[in-house]
Amino acid sequence: MARAAVRTTAKSSRKAPGKPAGEIDLSLVVPCFNEAAVLDVFFARVVPVLQATGLTFEIVCVNDGSKDATLPVLSAHKKHLPNLVIIDLARNFGKEAALTAGVDHARGRAVIPIDADLQDPPELIGEMVKRWQGGAEVVLAQRADRSADSFLKRVSAGAFYRMHNKMAQPQLPHNVGDFRLMDRAVVDVVKQLPERQRFMKGLFSWPGFSAEIVPYVRAERAAGQTAWSYWRLWNLALDGITGFTTLPLRLWSYLGLAVFAGALLYAAFIILRVAFFGVDVPGFASLLVAVLVLGGLQMIGIGILGEYIGRIQNEVKGRPIYVVRKIY
Ligand code: UDP
Ligand code: MG
Repeated sequence: MARAAVRTTAKSSRKAPGKPAGEIDLSLVVPCFNEAAVLDVFFARVVPVLQATGLTFEIVCVNDGSKDATLPVLSAHKKHLPNLVIIDLARNFGKEAALTAGVDHARGRAVIPIDADLQDPPELIGEMVKRWQGGAEVVLAQRADRSADSFLKRVSAGAFYRMHNKMAQPQLPHNVGDFRLMDRAVVDVVKQLPERQRFMKGLFSWPGFSAEIVPYVRAERAAGQTAWSYWRLWNLALDGITGFTTLPLRLWSYLGLAVFAGALLYAAFIILRVAFFGVDVPGFASLLVAVLVLGGLQMIGIGILGEYIGRIQNEVKGRPIYVVRKIY
């Protein structure tokens, strides 16, 4: 597992405690950032659901540098819940990194990432497990409606999925988040994807395999606050697009060609006009417009180049995706 060695620096992070991969049926992976207020309710709802499946399970909670009492609350739960694994990250690395840490350490034959705030209803797990036992390698939980979200979030999410799917491969199913069940075969492929810009929805979809869909209604946050500002969501969307398509880069060659062809035609037109009608001094406005339009286009092109180059730099640095302080 040379890859695993690259992914993390902290030694302790690589030797997951207890049983090796595949000896537990189900791993729940829960990224937690300032979730102290919800965790009691979370465990109260999740544990009975897991027990009802009749499978062996573990709950992998990743404390993503929380500023509140998340870690002590988790530790308190571990006293009566021995199959709770707490991965304490050294700082806040963001949800995508926290999820990666959890998935890396999960040992189940099936892995289910789930939000701590109970927006992903744990009651769905029973149905997901049934589908998995029936042969599905991936079971996607799909939001039947987004009425719990604000209007702006609904519109922007819809626009993102449409744009992403027009340009990028693999297609992202609409209204499907990180909440899904993945068979060990899928998880092992996801673990081999080394990129640092982690758009988990895309990475989880990348391996393919046979997927089934279970619809659900997304609830409001049970407590606490969302950590996702629109700025953060925008950046996640950029990661989603730049990570899975180079179309925005290639677009510039075609746009450049089109502008160049237009310029040639215009030049021919000017030459002919001068030849037939003589020199025409005015033309200041069209000149300025041409300069500004071309300047603007070039800036956009450079900006898009920058988006990709910045990401290349991050990948080249090859820093670990997350740093584990301690595993409990
Ligand atoms: N989260 C995390 N690190 C972060 C931000 C969020 O681990 O930097 C976790 C958070 O604790 C929750 C999940 O990611 O379990 C989803 O976060 P949130 O509910 O804030 O996002 P939203 O539901 O608004 O998309
Ligand atoms: Mg949430």
